[in-house]
Amino acid sequence: MSQLTDGFGRSFPYLRLSLTEACNFRCSYCLPDGYHADGRPRFLAVDEIARLVRAFATLGMHKIRLTGGEPSLRKDLTQIIATVARVPGIRKVAITTNGTLLPRHLPDWHRAGLTALNVSVDSLQRERFHAITGHDRLPEILEGIGMAQALGLQSVKLNAVLLRGRNDDELPAWMEFLRERALSVRFIELMRTGDNGDYFQRHHLRADVLVEQLHAAGWSLRPRAADAGPAREYTHPGYRGSIGIIAPYSRDFCAGCNRLRVTARGDLRLCLFGDFGVALRPLLQSDADHDALLARITTQLGLKAAGHGLHQGRTGLTPHLASIGG
Ligand code: SAM
Ligand code: SF4
Repeated sequence: MSQLTDGFGRSFPYLRLSLTEACNFRCSYCLPDGYHADGRPRFLAVDEIARLVRAFATLGMHKIRLTGGEPSLRKDLTQIIATVARVPGIRKVAITTNGTLLPRHLPDWHRAGLTALNVSVDSLQRERFHAITGHDRLPEILEGIGMAQALGLQSVKLNAVLLRGRNDDELPAWMEFLRERALSVRFIELMRTGDNGDYFQRHHLRADVLVEQLHAAGWSLRPRAADAGPAREYTHPGYRGSIGIIAPYSRDFCAGCNRLRVTARGDLRLCLFGDFGVALRPLLQSDADHDALLARITTQLGLKAAGHGLHQGRTGLTPHLASIGG
C-alpha cells in the first residue's frame, strides 16, 4: 500500500525523474533557442538516482518515468535504466524522449529493463516537424517507433503538442496512422510556462476542438481506470490504436494527478507549476540518510496543493518544461 498520499485523497504511485535539462532539439514552445548550460551543479549521478528511487519505492511507488530535457543525451542512460529496474518494488520503467537516439540505443535500453516508451511527434509531416523542433529527424524517429513495437515493449505512446496554425489539422492523418498500429497518440494542450507567453497567445488551442472531431468520427471515451493519469483515452472499433487528450486547463485535470517530480538536480517538485522545490540531494549522498529522506518526502507531500494556478496565469517556477521534466 502506498504511503504516498496527500491531503486531498490522491495517491502517487508514479515518479517523473528528470535526468538532464540539456536537449538537442529546439522545440518552438519549449527551448526555441536551444539549451544553454548555466554552470550550475551537475545532474544527479547514478548512485544518487539509486538512493532516490529506493526511497520512493520504499514508500510504495512502482513506476518511474525518466524524462528531461532529453534523457537520451545521458551517456549513462542504459546504466540508469538497469539500476532503476533492479530496485525492489519498481515494476515499470518508462522514458519520455524526442526519439532521435532510438534506432541506436533502444535494444540496449530494452535489455536493461525499459518497459514503456513515450516519443514526442508533433507532426507527421516532415517539413512541419522540422519547423516545430528545429531538426529534420522525423524519418529516424518513426523508424525507432517501429523498432519499439517490434521489440514488444509493454507500452508505446506518442505525444503531440496541439498547436494552433501549426499542426491542428492533422487529426485525420493521425487516425490513418493508428488504423493498423496498436499505439496511443496523446494530444497535449499547450501549457503556458514562464518563457513562452507570446507563443502561447498565438498557438494555444483548447483540446475540446479535437474532442468534437473525435466524436464526429465515431470515437468514444474509454472508461477511466482507477489509476489512470490525466489523459482521457478515445477508441474506435475500426482502429487498432487509441487517441488520448491531455487538457491541463480542464476543470478536473488536477484531481487525476498521480505523479510527483524530481528535477535533474534533485529537487522534489510537487506540481509541474508549483512555487517551490524541496532539495533532496543532500540526503542522496549516503545510504545512512535513507530514513531522513523518507521523512522529508512524506512531510512535503502534506503540502501539495489541490490544483495549479495556470488559470490565473501563474506558472510557478517553470520557465520551460525542459527545466523540470515534462
Ligand atoms: N525531450 C523529451 C521529449 O520531448 O519527449 C522529454 C522532455 S519534454 C519537456 C516532455 C514532453 O513535454 C514532450 O512531449 C513535450 O512535447 C512536452 N512539452 C514541452 N513543453 C510543453 C508545453 N509548454 N506545453 C505542453 N507540452 C509541452
Ligand atoms: Fe527538448 Fe523535449 Fe523541450 Fe523539445 S520538448 S525542446 S525535445 S525537452
